[in-house]
Amino acid sequence: MEGPPVRVFLLIAAYAAVVTLPLILSWAVGGPPRPLHQELASGLGILSFSIILVEFVLSGRFKRVSNRIGMDVTMRAHQLFARTALLFAVLHPFLYRGTPTGGQRPWDPTRQLTLTSDFTYISTGIAALILLFCLVAFAIARKQLDFKYETWRLMHGLGALLIAALLLHHTVYAGRYGSEPVMTWFWLAMTGVAMGSLLYVYLLVPLRDRGRRWRVSSVDCLTPRQWQVTVTPVNHAGLDYKAGQFVWLNIGHSTFSLKENPFSICSAPAGGPDVSFMIKELGDFTRTIGQIQPDTIAYLDGPFGSLTVEGRDEPGIALIAGGVGIAPLLGILRQLRAMNDPRKIKFIYGNRKEDQIAWRDELDGADVTYVLSEPSEAWEGEVGFVDAGLVDRVFGPEEFENWLFVLCGPAIMMEVVETRLIEKGTTSDRILSERFDYD
Ligand SMILES: Cc1cc2nc3c(=O)[nH]c(=O)nc-3n(C[C@H](O)[C@H](O)[C@H](O)COP(=O)(O)OP(=O)(O)OC[C@H]3O[C@@H](n4cnc5c(N)ncnc54)[C@H](O)[C@@H]3O)c2cc1C
Repeated sequence: MEGPPVRVFLLIAAYAAVVTLPLILSWAVGGPPRPLHQELASGLGILSFSIILVEFVLSGRFKRVSNRIGMDVTMRAHQLFARTALLFAVLHPFLYRGTPTGGQRPWDPTRQLTLTSDFTYISTGIAALILLFCLVAFAIARKQLDFKYETWRLMHGLGALLIAALLLHHTVYAGRYGSEPVMTWFWLAMTGVAMGSLLYVYLLVPLRDRGRRWRVSSVDCLTPRQWQVTVTPVNHAGLDYKAGQFVWLNIGHSTFSLKENPFSICSAPAGGPDVSFMIKELGDFTRTIGQIQPDTIAYLDGPFGSLTVEGRDEPGIALIAGGVGIAPLLGILRQLRAMNDPRKIKFIYGNRKEDQIAWRDELDGADVTYVLSEPSEAWEGEVGFVDAGLVDRVFGPEEFENWLFVLCGPAIMMEVVETRLIEKGTTSDRILSERFDYD
């Protein structure tokens, strides 16, 4: 099997090939060349549309993509490419400035010299541009706008579908290249695949999952505001996952419901078919965890993510967690222990207060450094945040240079720790991290 750098390279190459394919095909089937700024205008429009269509597959729900490059990278790429598509879409009409309008003339069968002025064809482009701007702006300002996450997700999906449909119309009817029969069929196929990917995620996967039900077997309070939920497979073998991965968990709703949230698995595959989650109260769903009744039916879509130490051969593993970020790292620790893995392990676990420390009995057998930012006077351990100073105190040069570092916690903690590790000579391929929030 190919290694991580090769895998990433192949995915980048595949992405570039798919996104630029419509551009290359248009160039191949198009008529005589036009002035550079007009070709550039068409090119940016074509690229913007193809980037948007590929965004459907970069939504984070396709394991072949996100499990190879990691969910953080997938979501960052999704955000970055959406903004690039918006930029191209904004530039696209301006670059046509000065080109005569009026549509196809008898003496200009290839539309080399004129643009369409049919407002029906142009209006779908304008509507798509406005919608795309709103979609990107809403995604950036999601938290400030205080939408329920499910409402935002529904709007995001429907908005993307509408943009794709509008752009298909605009490209095929207003576009010089899109109106070529080959390109029309090509765009239809590409739009079909993009829209089909949503059908797959929201129709076919739920249909499949109806036959793979789970039952809530226990709900336990771990610490104030942190819970453990365990689910048991109902008449099936369970989930084939690697320690550290996560699933989309739906408890008590139809498989078609949008009420599903991503949670890391804190149990280990070696521990049997039951799957456990450590869930922190945060919003409208997580605040109701304590009310979930045993035997409630649940559905798991996954596993997703690449936060796993499986297949790694570093001599030691550093697990660095902040708060509920311990969930996937605990799964990794449990798996390593269950497999009697001989490698050295060091754990850093940061919290605000002592009563937030979960799994203390289980962790105490490991080499753990607890750190509290708001300790009581009786606390004798490390005080402060999981920061560069703490990392320096816990790890030595040999560990920075050879170990694998696995991080999960608040964004600021991960930024600070990653920066320090790089400064200390840890190569980026030996730093694995997972964010619980993509903003
Ligand atoms: C890969 C991953 C793994 C995670 N693992 C864990 C875990 O092991 N334990 C844990 O307690 N939390 C975990 N989270 C965070 C957890 O998904 C959110 O806390 C939870 O979805 C909040 O739901 P809510 O309805 O209670 O909150 P809401 O009121 O809906 O939202 C509160 C905030 O949570 C975020 N959020 C809500 N739903 C989602 C969603 N579906 N996807 C991404 N962000 C969302 C939003 O940014 C929102 O601002 C993980 C998140 C991700 C992305």
